[in-house]
Amino acid sequence: MTTSVSAPWMVSLHGGHSSAYCDHADSTLQELLDAAVERGMRVFGMTEHAPRGEKRLLFPEEVSMGWDVRKIGRMFEEYAQESRERVAEYADRIQLLRGFEIEVAPGRRYPELMQKLRERHQFDYIVGSVHFVEDELFDYNVESLKKVSQKVGGLEKLGVRYYRILAEMVEALRPEVVGHMDVIRKYAEPLGAVDTPPIREAAMEALEAVRAAGAILDVNTAPYRRGHDVPYPAPWIVEAARDMGIPFCFGDDSHAVADVGAGIEQARAYLLDHQVDAITCLMRRDDGAIDREVIPLQ
Ligand SMILES: [Zn+2]
Ligand SMILES: [Zn+2]
Repeated sequence: MTTSVSAPWMVSLHGGHSSAYCDHADSTLQELLDAAVERGMRVFGMTEHAPRGEKRLLFPEEVSMGWDVRKIGRMFEEYAQESRERVAEYADRIQLLRGFEIEVAPGRRYPELMQKLRERHQFDYIVGSVHFVEDELFDYNVESLKKVSQKVGGLEKLGVRYYRILAEMVEALRPEVVGHMDVIRKYAEPLGAVDTPPIREAAMEALEAVRAAGAILDVNTAPYRRGHDVPYPAPWIVEAARDMGIPFCFGDDSHAVADVGAGIEQARAYLLDHQVDAITCLMRRDDGAIDREVIPLQ
């Protein structure tokens, strides 16, 4: 084990996707939580994907596994229940937070559906992410990205559209955490630039919405596992957010035991390299309310 064990900044607000509730996760929730304890994490946010209430929005794997909207809704109910039980069960070892990652930016119905889920199950927080543009999943594979890019008239238009949807989502839902802000990079980068001036302009407007909502930006370590040396978000976004006073926190985006806590040390160095010397984490107070804590990275 490295010196990162039990470091105050070993926290993750985005991850804990588990195999009983997520078609593309490889470990059970208990396995992920045990790994988080073992790796000395202080705070670990469980943020399972929210159910997508419409057939056309199901993930390709879900469809091929014969899952449907009802089944996915039922699985999410079970996740809400198990996550609640785990918070109490692990309380003497690690602080677990209960959240979920929203999947589809609004739509007229979406903000309301997501708020209802949050209230019904009394989640601690939401990770607001955008994975769909024009109802098409764009971060599934290169083909998915190409398809939606063609649909909207090219990569630059897609980039602009993505950040506009992100801004709308943040304004409508006011999530506590904004997930992998420039995930549009995932399959776009080999095809062309997604940081052209019009895209940057749209991204800056999205950042303004993030700032106005008081949200925390997810410094998401998933790209490290795919061999990239830059996490989400890229330096130009980190620098702009830093100058706007927007806080950051780590997210391991874990979908398997190996992912838990992975890349956080590297992400810490990345933030320090960009003159960000603290993160802001969510914490549960003794009375159960959720608070924020600023954690120095030095
Ligand atoms: Zn996932
Ligand atoms: Zn995501």
